[in-house]
Amino acid sequence: MARYTKAACRLCRREGVKLFLKGDRCYTEKCAVVRKGYPPGGYGQGRHKVTEYGLQLREKQKAAVITVF
Ligand SMILES: [Zn+2]
Repeated sequence: MARYTKAACRLCRREGVKLFLKGDRCYTEKCAVVRKGYPPGGYGQGRHKVTEYGLQLREKQKAAVITVF
C-alpha cells in the first residue's frame, strides 16, 4: 500500500482532529490544527455542505490514514 510521507499534520487539519501521526509534534502547538484550524488547500476556508456520505468518507479516510502510518 502507498505510504504518505509528506506533511503529516496536514492530515490532522483535514480531519479537524489531531491524529498524532508524528507523535510528539501533535502534542505541541506546532501541529497545524492549532496554527490553522481549517482544512488544507485553497478551498479549505470556504464553507461546504457536508453530506452524510462525506461524513462517512472522512471517518473511513481517517481510519485508513492511521493504519497506513
Ligand atoms: Zn498534527
